[in-house]
Amino acid sequence: MARYTGAVCRLCRREGQKLFLKGERCYSEKCSVGLRGYAPGQHGQGRKKSSEYGMQLRAKQTARRFYGVQENQFHHYFEIAERKQGITGDNLLRILESRLDNVVYRVGFASSRAEARQLVGHGHFEVNGSRVDIASYLLKAGDVVSICEKSRSSEKIKAVVEANGARPVPEWIDVDRDKLTAKVIALPTREQIEAPVDEQLIVEYYSK
Ligand code: SF4
Repeated sequence: MARYTGAVCRLCRREGQKLFLKGERCYSEKCSVGLRGYAPGQHGQGRKKSSEYGMQLRAKQTARRFYGVQENQFHHYFEIAERKQGITGDNLLRILESRLDNVVYRVGFASSRAEARQLVGHGHFEVNGSRVDIASYLLKAGDVVSICEKSRSSEKIKAVVEANGARPVPEWIDVDRDKLTAKVIALPTREQIEAPVDEQLIVEYYSK
């Protein structure tokens, strides 16, 4: 399935909540969810009720859009989560959180996951000292993400890091803003994951 190229704020309005897809604007009064808190489209203001299936579908779409993952890859993550020991929904969220683009965003080395994907794709990051340009790269406990030596002097990178420096960093990542590194202490528990997602509904969606 092709990547969505329309207005991203429509995605938040469709899901009825902030998905933080646009960086700084998401934290401002300009956020469309605050200004127009109803679904987009001609019948947006009339849509209220949802079937059980509709709720499961929305939960899956919310998670997919929040993390910026394509349909096929999301399903692939679900299959991995199912095979792992433990609770499938928790496993799924842990996999999504361990993506390199997510960690880059979470520690404030990018304004949004979309920007993180772009910066990773342009080769600005290393994992354990080796350049990694795959946004979906899955990190493990102990991995250290850093901004490449060459990229540290880039005005764009400096501006992004500065602009996002005040954003809270999850406790499962240890960030060093002077060295521009972030160490994954341990993969997060469900309680440590801030995501507007009901993962049980996603499990039900794929269990049909
Ligand atoms: Fe747009 Fe961000 Fe608000 Fe979503 S959270 S509607 S992406 S400004």
